Amino acid sequence: MSEHKIAMVGTPCEIMAASKLQHYINSPIDVKLGLFCMENFSYKYFENLLKEYDLKMEDIEKFQIEKGFIFLLLKTKETVKIPLSIAKRIIRKNCNICVELTSETSDISIGSIGSQDGWSTVIIRTEKGEEIINGAIEEKFIESKELEEPQFKLLNKIAESKIKKNLENIERREFLARPVLYQRNKSDDSIAKELAEAQFIDLKSNVIDIGACVLCGACEYACQDNLIKIDDTKPITKGECPQNCNTCFTVCPRTFIPEDLRNDNSKAIGDYIKVMTVKSLKHTQGQDGSIVTTILDYLLTNNIVTEALIVDKEDYLAWKPYAKLTGKIDEIIKSGGTKYSVCPVFKPLKDLKEEVN
Ligand code: SF4
Ligand code: SF4
Ligand code: SF4
Repeated sequence: MSEHKIAMVGTPCEIMAASKLQHYINSPIDVKLGLFCMENFSYKYFENLLKEYDLKMEDIEKFQIEKGFIFLLLKTKETVKIPLSIAKRIIRKNCNICVELTSETSDISIGSIGSQDGWSTVIIRTEKGEEIINGAIEEKFIESKELEEPQFKLLNKIAESKIKKNLENIERREFLARPVLYQRNKSDDSIAKELAEAQFIDLKSNVIDIGACVLCGACEYACQDNLIKIDDTKPITKGECPQNCNTCFTVCPRTFIPEDLRNDNSKAIGDYIKVMTVKSLKHTQGQDGSIVTTILDYLLTNNIVTEALIVDKEDYLAWKPYAKLTGKIDEIIKSGGTKYSVCPVFKPLKDLKEEVN
């Protein structure tokens, strides 16, 4: 797979999985574009909730979460507001123990919080991320300005409130003997010892069966023996694991996190080089004020990456997300728009691995 250099777009938990893949095994992901993420919803439960409003997924043109409501812009151009206090019950359980808002292990984090309409907040975290943003500014793909202090404070405040709320949930889960392994402060040596004894069965009991799985598909991608399959709701195995294999447990973003990737909950938005607000000069449609689309366009145009790993919507099932690998900008533009449910984002990389072998 060495000829593939992939830019991945993902939520904080998916970006953490990509970071663990990079840390522990090989992966063709070269650039990580992380999205801001407050919560995510179960597709099935969302469908059920819509029924209470006499709506179906296919009636919806656009979703937006703002100021305590889910705004549904319908194809009829009407808008329906669902209070988040009602939608709370359809939030995926794993999101209630998530302390990351801004994708802290990405190269560049992108979201709307703190920026005015048409602009996006961008957090540059790595030298690679800085080079990409500087190149995109120089080649007039984007323009940037400083994020004003009040907006920066707002971003931090929202990130802090997510950490605080979900740390309380984590405490409750731990009290109920439902471990939240990714928040354990262990040394790398002690993690190595735990990993040496873990297998899929431990992933099942410590993550999947207790509502901590983010359904990213990293375990399925990493399993050399192709024993893991992800159905719509969770990973399952179809066979016996060889002794001494612990890869799935190791790469999962909800098991122990190595020291250099672990979130520091006292830093609300994590470590960064620069925070700015950015506007696209190339695209007007797409995720987060088109900035994701525009950065991917810049990366592909300049052959910095060969493909982008993105999430699109199924044609046959409205708003059902699925991951795809593409080098075509028109496909990236078409996939724009935030999807508020999850899919195994590493699936196309698994397919790629199988094609090569
Ligand atoms: S666990 Fe949920 S809230 Fe956290 S990053 Fe993933 S999808 Fe978003
Ligand atoms: S073979 Fe290894 S990676 Fe695959 S399911 Fe078993 S323990 Fe996990
Ligand atoms: S169990 Fe697999 S799909 Fe679930 S979070 Fe862990 S790696 Fe991702």
